[in-house]
Amino acid sequence: MNNTFADLHIHTCFSDGILTPQEIINKANKLGFSCLAITDHDCIDGISPAISCSLKYYIQIIPAVELTAEYDNTEIHILGYFIDYKNKQFCNKLEILCDARRDRIYKMVAKLNALDVNIKAEEVLKLSGKGSVGRLHVAHVLLRNGYVKTIPEAFNKYIGNNGPCYVNRFKLTPQEAIKIIKKINGIAVVAHPHSMNKDELIIKLIKYGIGGIEVYHPDHTRAVTLSYLEMAKKYNLLVTGGSDYHGFGKKKAQFGGIKVSYELVERLKQSYVGNKTA
Ligand code: AMP
Ligand code: FE
Ligand code: FE
Ligand code: ZN
Repeated sequence: MNNTFADLHIHTCFSDGILTPQEIINKANKLGFSCLAITDHDCIDGISPAISCSLKYYIQIIPAVELTAEYDNTEIHILGYFIDYKNKQFCNKLEILCDARRDRIYKMVAKLNALDVNIKAEEVLKLSGKGSVGRLHVAHVLLRNGYVKTIPEAFNKYIGNNGPCYVNRFKLTPQEAIKIIKKINGIAVVAHPHSMNKDELIIKLIKYGIGGIEVYHPDHTRAVTLSYLEMAKKYNLLVTGGSDYHGFGKKKAQFGGIKVSYELVERLKQSYVGNKTA
């Protein structure tokens, strides 16, 4: 196999992406990727179908997940790579997280209804289908029903972290998220660290056990990317990157927009093997 480049951050319709795993793989093949990590929010249901479909194209799928944590009111996304995604305890934990996500939709919709935004939780849940439901689904229903003109407007006006209809979800601490990932032999990586806007938090995360940092991300400018590369070197962190492709709502996050060298995958793999045998 001619390993070229990878995208290590992809969402499918099993979380808040729009494409099925099959559609993702077909697209990846056309774009020339040899490796993808499926990183749905709090959900692993897209991994098996992606693996099945990848076989005919010789595209490697890294089983992964993106867990949401919070520290001092700052949202932190932790990616887990090479996870044992069939682990029973882990799957039970994800089920709890997904149930809490569903409850949260009802709460958010109640807040929207109180502002005369008359959407139904059922419509959001129907749009999300199987897997995990989230704010991007709510935003899409707001758009569909004419309450906003764009997805960012939905976040700015209603459901962004400081918006009037925001509802906190079941909160994992970063320590818990990292522990969950490590328990299933995964490598914990801090996702799009610039979104936290607090680089000192990365130092804390290193103490808690993250092994890597998502350096290449559509929200990172060149200067930001270089600063995280420096940081990775200084603290001996693995470097990852990906498009964070969802298919809608995020203009910058285009599939094919981030292509990381397969060498980064090799390093992740080496670290994974090291973890397993340690
Ligand atoms: P949730 O996990 O339900 O709180 O939703 C978080 C997800 O919402 C993120 O992973 C993004 O996919 C999406 N999101 C958050 N803020 C924005 C924004 N301003 N524009 C578009 N999508 C966003
Ligand atoms: Fe998302
Ligand atoms: Fe994220
Ligand atoms: Zn993501």
